[in-house]
Amino acid sequence: MIRAVRGMNDITPSETPYWQHVEGVARDVLVNYGYEEIRPPVMERTELFRRSIGEITDIVQKEMYTFSDRNGDSLTLRPEATAGCVRASVEHGLLRSGIQRLWYMGPMFRHERPQKERYRQFYQVDVEAFGMPGPDIDAELILMTARLWRMLGLSELTLELNSLGSVETQATYRGLLTTYFSERRESLDEDSRRRLNTNPLRILDSKNPEMLPVIEECPKILDRLDTESSDHFTELRSILEAAGVPYTVNACLVRGLDYYTRTVFEWTSNQLGSQGTVCGGGRYDNLVAQIGGPDTPAIGFAMGLERLISLLRNQGTEPPLCTPHVYLAAVTQDAAIHGYRLSESLRDRLPGLRLLVDSGPGSFKSKLKRADRSGARVALILGDDETRSARVNVKFLRESTPQKSLTESALPDLLQQFLTLNSKS
Ligand code: ATP
Ligand code: MG
Repeated sequence: MIRAVRGMNDITPSETPYWQHVEGVARDVLVNYGYEEIRPPVMERTELFRRSIGEITDIVQKEMYTFSDRNGDSLTLRPEATAGCVRASVEHGLLRSGIQRLWYMGPMFRHERPQKERYRQFYQVDVEAFGMPGPDIDAELILMTARLWRMLGLSELTLELNSLGSVETQATYRGLLTTYFSERRESLDEDSRRRLNTNPLRILDSKNPEMLPVIEECPKILDRLDTESSDHFTELRSILEAAGVPYTVNACLVRGLDYYTRTVFEWTSNQLGSQGTVCGGGRYDNLVAQIGGPDTPAIGFAMGLERLISLLRNQGTEPPLCTPHVYLAAVTQDAAIHGYRLSESLRDRLPGLRLLVDSGPGSFKSKLKRADRSGARVALILGDDETRSARVNVKFLRESTPQKSLTESALPDLLQQFLTLNSKS
């Protein structure tokens, strides 16, 4: 038996209702805020990720699924989606008109150590807003995520904010960090020592709890922001306060990719153990130009669907079910042939009717068992007599109403009521 690749999950039919629910709610919220969908491919040229995510990051150094295709080109399964979205937007001239609000969802691939809520193929909903330099759009993205949590019934997520300043601020800050951490080399783990001379900001992103004390005491970029970044951050905070979105400032928040400038944020839950971040994002004002596009300010975020779905399941949220309304079972071969005509005419008359037609071997008793197991409200039973007289036996599977015989023409009126009931019934 060949098994699935480690860290890559099958999402089985008992789980897909949760996925459809979260994806559907996310899509509705995004569309309502005026965001348009884009669908870049899951693979890009490796160079795109090296140039955008940054050479000295966990993703590029350890986690990418990179391979040569049959032409010898180096390709990579996308570990994150912003780079591909920026590439596609530039390639199709979408940024020429200035402002774009885009979203997409799909699988990402990272060769991480698989554990609960950390997989090698995982799904994200991603949002990117191009061409808007001010804090108002930062706030819009955050308000939109807050609304999404409300729509999903997730009440315990908390928002952390930080600002990473401009590229120049970051350059000066990098020097400060190098000095600070060099003086405390003995407290650093191996990864952090390696980063000390290449990318000290990455040390702040360490997941090693033993590193926490030395990180917490380090100089903070927030205390050294350039005036424009500082004003930007203050204004963002005022908008969030006016809109009633609580947040905490986490001066150590840097996020795992190199391209962020100014605003960065994360939504976290304490219900998911150490994999508590469900959504993270930030401003990346230089990335578009850096990968060959027009100078365009931008901000985006990504949320992890597995983690959101775990939260919903933990709190007992039931997704809407898609059980059939009606199960049609025929007693004889002739009745079965007639049954297809009847079921197609019912589908014509009642769009939205979820009608399952019995198929498969077995006695009449086993057909009724299948009808019951399907979760349908009623079974329509067709025998030769019914076929001849254009009638149907209606058996109520979930209530004590006795079975009744109806003319085919009376059926749609009876079934119509199921469509107006909610989909859980
Ligand atoms: P983490 O700190 O958990 O490693 P990250 O900072 O690497 O997350 P991003 O690259 O910002 O994550 O991706 C955004 C979101 O995608 C995360 O907040 C998380 O919900 C989800 N995510 C990231 N990596 C994984 C993974 N390996 N498995 C499942 N979900 C993931
Ligand atoms: Mg990560």
